[in-house]
Amino acid sequence: MTSGLYGLTFAELEQRLRSEGLKSIHARSLWSWLYRGKSPEQFPAPLKRWWEAQELGNKSGGKVRQEWQSSDGLTRKWLLDLSDGESVETVLMRFSGRWTACVSSQVGCAMGCVFCATGQAGFTRHLGPEEIVDQLRHVQAYLEAEALGRLRNVVLMGMGEPLHNYEAVMQALEIVTDRRGMNLGPGNITLSTVGVIPGIRRMAEEQRPYHLAVSLHGAREEIRSALVPVSRRWPLDELIEACRFYGERTERRIFFEWTLIEGANDSLEQADELAELLQGIPAHINLIPLNPTSAYAGQATSCGPVQAFKGRLKERGYVCTVRQRRGIDVAAGCGQLRGGEGVGRL
Ligand code: SAH
Ligand code: SF4
Repeated sequence: MTSGLYGLTFAELEQRLRSEGLKSIHARSLWSWLYRGKSPEQFPAPLKRWWEAQELGNKSGGKVRQEWQSSDGLTRKWLLDLSDGESVETVLMRFSGRWTACVSSQVGCAMGCVFCATGQAGFTRHLGPEEIVDQLRHVQAYLEAEALGRLRNVVLMGMGEPLHNYEAVMQALEIVTDRRGMNLGPGNITLSTVGVIPGIRRMAEEQRPYHLAVSLHGAREEIRSALVPVSRRWPLDELIEACRFYGERTERRIFFEWTLIEGANDSLEQADELAELLQGIPAHINLIPLNPTSAYAGQATSCGPVQAFKGRLKERGYVCTVRQRRGIDVAAGCGQLRGGEGVGRL
């Protein structure tokens, strides 16, 4: 079974082969087979014998249960089967001529943000490293089969809270950024968190080389907590402290995400409070007009007020962009992933 192999880092694979009587140099050949399509015909004889004794099945990542193509022509979504009958969604988008994969880190999510379909569905389980790697292998296999070029960017913005599944996520990222294999650039990977403070601090302490995006949605505790219930556990002021710590330790700019909801968090007063809150933190603010989900009645802020909110933040010296809407017709937009069949349309 390939089962297990795709969840190992290179060093762990080396260790495993050694424990099964092979040499560490064989890890390189096997790694190339796993991630670079090297043919087993070229394996050294002992590795070939070992390889033939395994049942190395499906090489193309997760099995597809359902697939959607958005009418925007630039977004594709897959519902991928997991071995225990659960499933997760993975999205591939094209932005400015480059491919970005949006990957899930959990089946469901425990954080309960009121406006998010994943949060509305609740938490089922964490994904293992292999299940995260599989999503990217699947996307790469698709791009290769269609001769569409290389995957460039990865965002952990699919189903789940990546910092609630820290070990598995970091393990998967180490695997996919290994230069001998998939070789994705760590600087092209962005991890988005609802604000799990211990995870943010740990990323800084461990000097993880990925970009961090923090979902804020409110610049005052009562506004934020009404949208993001876990803000009671990891309060806004402590979250901002953790972001300062992260910024100082890593000297990296932090992305702050703000889902704009009419009448809830889209006033110019909130823009001013946000500007105050982030003072001194190297920040890029990303505004996301609310995408519809079945269990939340809020409406997206309309175009004029979105521009006004953005304008105010720019006046205050912030880099601020409005995220392009993608795949809304097939529920592939931010916060619309639910991981079930037949959810292509709302
Ligand atoms: N759990 C992580 C990453 C997944 S959600 C996090 O919360 O950051 C990715 C982004 O989509 C987050 O910024 C989240 O706040 C946003 N989002 C969730 N539901 C949304 C919706 N209905 N409309 C717009 N953005 C949404
Ligand atoms: Fe979980 Fe993120 Fe959705 Fe909140 S927005 S429920 S943290 S996936």
